[in-house]
Amino acid sequence: MDNDLLTRYAEITQKNKREIVLLRGSGCKWRRCTFCDYHLDFSPDIQSNYSLNRRVLSQVTGKYGKLEVINSGSFVDLDARSFRLILDVCLQKHIGELHFESHWMHRDAVDTLRRAFTVYGIRVKVKIGVETFDSRYREEILCKGIGEALPQQIAACFDEVCLLFGLDGQSRESMQRDIETGLSCFERVCINIMTQNTTKIKPNPGVIHTFLTELYPLYAANDRVDILLENTDFGVG
Ligand code: SF4
Repeated sequence: MDNDLLTRYAEITQKNKREIVLLRGSGCKWRRCTFCDYHLDFSPDIQSNYSLNRRVLSQVTGKYGKLEVINSGSFVDLDARSFRLILDVCLQKHIGELHFESHWMHRDAVDTLRRAFTVYGIRVKVKIGVETFDSRYREEILCKGIGEALPQQIAACFDEVCLLFGLDGQSRESMQRDIETGLSCFERVCINIMTQNTTKIKPNPGVIHTFLTELYPLYAANDRVDILLENTDFGVG
């Protein structure tokens, strides 16, 4: 993946308005999700990651008081100096809410992350990619590495959830069940529609059509639901 082609700063001007940065870390430590190739945006070179992250973070203005930090993996993959810089930017730009993402395997690190920012008066929200609450599909087809954890158990550690739609075997009923479960257990739900990438998992046009015609109209205006029809719809990537 040519990192220079990635857009790493954007503003999300709909719904939960926030700035978003796509930083670079040491790489996803799970890396087995069968539908994913964006974990290829990483580098083992901590200095080079920090330099890139510093350049990206310098664009943050704080205009919405909220910042989402993603890094094609989990927050634990970011280096310590980048973390310090995120904190400095939040303090300088009066950012009171910070969003990160994480895989389930790092759930025990979430509390430490929250505390590190809460002492400065900054709320931390952590998003997890669950893709579906059907644990059998999730583990056997998508290889998410969350096991049989129930929605309530996942929500005990995480604030927001990502779902992935447009896959073989999904239906209106299964997708709506996932959305409603997400809304009942989590603060916010982010729906990603599968797009063609380099993996063997392909988007299913029929399932996508079902989502667009039957479910999108029901949730498009819901303030707690983000819907990404393309995975660059947040403006980064
Ligand atoms: S945890 Fe996230 S970055 Fe890692 S392989 Fe799965 S989807 Fe990709």
